[in-house]
Amino acid sequence: MSDFLDEFALILASCEKPSRYIGDEFLSANKDFNSAQVRVCFVFPDKYEIGISNFGHKILYHIVNSSDYYMADRAYAPDKDFLRLLSKNGKLLYALESKKPLNLFDFLGFALQYEMSYTTILKLLDSSNIPLFTSQRTNAHPIVFAGGPCAYNPAPLSDFIDLFLIGDGEEVLIEVLDKYKIIKNQSRDKILNELSLIEGVYCPKFQKKTTKRIFIPTKESHPVSSPISHFVSVHDRATVEIRRGCGRLCRFCQSAHTNLPVRERKMNDIISLACDYVRNTGYDEYSLLSLSSNDHTNIEEIIQKLNIHFANSGINVSLPSQRADRFSLKLAKLMQHEKKTTVTIAPEAGSQRMRDVINKNLTQEQILNAVLSCVQSGWDKIKLYFIIGLPFEDDSDVVAIADLIKTINQNCKSRGLKIPLITCSISVFVPKPHTPFCWHGQNKISQIEHKKQLLLSKKSEIKNAKLNFHSPKVSQLEAYFTRAGEEAGRLIYELYKNNSYLDSWEENIDFELYYKTARSIGIDIEKEACKNLNPDDYTPWEIIDTGVNKTWLINEYNKAKLAQSTIPCEVKCSNCGVCFNLKTAKVYDNKVNS
Ligand code: SF4
Repeated sequence: MSDFLDEFALILASCEKPSRYIGDEFLSANKDFNSAQVRVCFVFPDKYEIGISNFGHKILYHIVNSSDYYMADRAYAPDKDFLRLLSKNGKLLYALESKKPLNLFDFLGFALQYEMSYTTILKLLDSSNIPLFTSQRTNAHPIVFAGGPCAYNPAPLSDFIDLFLIGDGEEVLIEVLDKYKIIKNQSRDKILNELSLIEGVYCPKFQKKTTKRIFIPTKESHPVSSPISHFVSVHDRATVEIRRGCGRLCRFCQSAHTNLPVRERKMNDIISLACDYVRNTGYDEYSLLSLSSNDHTNIEEIIQKLNIHFANSGINVSLPSQRADRFSLKLAKLMQHEKKTTVTIAPEAGSQRMRDVINKNLTQEQILNAVLSCVQSGWDKIKLYFIIGLPFEDDSDVVAIADLIKTINQNCKSRGLKIPLITCSISVFVPKPHTPFCWHGQNKISQIEHKKQLLLSKKSEIKNAKLNFHSPKVSQLEAYFTRAGEEAGRLIYELYKNNSYLDSWEENIDFELYYKTARSIGIDIEKEACKNLNPDDYTPWEIIDTGVNKTWLINEYNKAKLAQSTIPCEVKCSNCGVCFNLKTAKVYDNKVNS
């Protein structure tokens, strides 16, 4: 550490928030670089305070560092000032724990959480003196891999990423490292070819179709500590993943369709993990993580038992994502604690017709019950998630969002309850690969602006509601990149050359640059984002097999047109194909009667 400080003191003293760049956080693994047989650096292409909270990163960091042979280090995207200082002083980007330049690692693993991080990845490679193009790398360079939601369409990044890990990373990553340990002295091509034979690994150079990996989470695979940021991160709390996958199968949701089947962790393991994580870290809050936390078979019993364990300690539970139809007064009461945070519920659409189109399987009565239960239990801040621009939506569906809030207010009033402060987070539909809506074009920006104005015109009737709109332009860029083919790689490269960096931060993004650069190479972003695709045509993401049958997806799309819903997989199997094709099955915790 002292050598590092000697070398970087001036740079650290000259940048904003130097604590982002010094490492040595409490509970970091700090494994020895020199004695490790294979060295991996996980790189999060966004700022430190976002990356250090990422749970996928925490799992893989824990898995690799649990091995006697391997070491995992971390790096995050520095802010622009730090990157400039590195370059001005002739320094390379380094990993936080070992302080070694990223180009000395055997593997660099990028988390692909959102499309707007693509240009940042190129800048991070460049700042590490690693050739951007896979074709230019030799045995002297790390193998660059990537995983996460955006890896389900690898085409846009296929010129820059050597290997994509598809699906759950726990087992496949260790298999990659085990194989590499044996063959690391062979030629780069031979190594990549051998690694691409592992199920769940997609190597663009060899273009073999890949099937996603499924892992049944175990107690041992879950971390019970993780590096604690020197300053505030986006999620300063212990996290226990209680359930993977979601069988509700909302038709717009990529996570639901790529993370099948549902796998629940056992109640006793969850309790033990939560207790250990809180004890090790000293956090005063723990989150029970899942795509829909209150769908866990034993959620009430789990919280009941943890409440007893943490009684009078000031340690509170949070459920990050909850289904309105599983919300009960009992659950609301169990979650009662002095520090009342905001309850989040996701109706996604205002009208029943639209909720049927998207297969939300949620009635107005269920939404009202959930909100009223919260208000009765003392919550006065509710966050509601909505999407506009959904397939087959018309203006009346958009106005129905305001009507739903009015109905909530009327019901609170008639029951003598305080009218809550409602924050509506309104995003724009993005057609995601591997979902029934992947073929449906996005609304044009002018259509989205019209829908936004419609809602804003109702604002005086719902004064207790704050309407937060996601940027239509960012959504359009996401819609372009998420369905794009390899030609998008050229656009990413040109944008990088024009200094695009940390574009997931709206203050950084230069929209005009995106559109101008795209036009200059013959890409019409709006046309591509809004294009309806023919389900019979080949799409770039078909190289990845999620196990879901294409015929099932098409059938779901056709049912959406008729506003017909599908029973959740939790209730009845709808034969999506995953369990048969991938020889797997849903895993539920046994029901416990309290
Ligand atoms: S095959 Fe049936 S049980 Fe398995 S994930 Fe699909 S819908 Fe659920």
